[in-house]
Amino acid sequence: MNAAPEAQSLRDLYRELVMDHARNPRNFGKLEASTHSAEGINPLCGDKLILYLDVGADDRVRAASFEGTGCVISLASASLLTETVVGMRSTNAARYFDVLRSRLSKAPGGTEPVIDLGKLQALEGVREYPSRVKCATLPWHTLGAALSCSDTPATTE
Ligand code: ZN
Repeated sequence: MNAAPEAQSLRDLYRELVMDHARNPRNFGKLEASTHSAEGINPLCGDKLILYLDVGADDRVRAASFEGTGCVISLASASLLTETVVGMRSTNAARYFDVLRSRLSKAPGGTEPVIDLGKLQALEGVREYPSRVKCATLPWHTLGAALSCSDTPATTE
């Protein structure tokens, strides 16, 4: 018996969400009032982006944007990232990356932190394509670099 019609439609939904974000990236463009920014490069795929953040004195992300070029997965991930982190404390944003990374790696990682990834779950589909995982995680590596005020570009390699 094929027990996965629901899983199938969920996958379709996620695929649509990813395509939508790739075609119409949210928060695309330079953020003039940014307090943090960093460049990220995924040499394997050619994805390249600059992430901008405006982090308030209370450590909350007030605004986020990005610009760059890349494949569908990297653009969608960057777009979803900018929607996800606004309003969050920067330390929380970093935790999201840890969870996303563990979900995307095939190796079961013991106890998984209980955290609702929300729309980011749409990216979990790339787990089936290991070579694309770096496309999905690049914007998050870049976020880490931006928050740690790194001058060297973040890279997935
Ligand atoms: Zn890519």
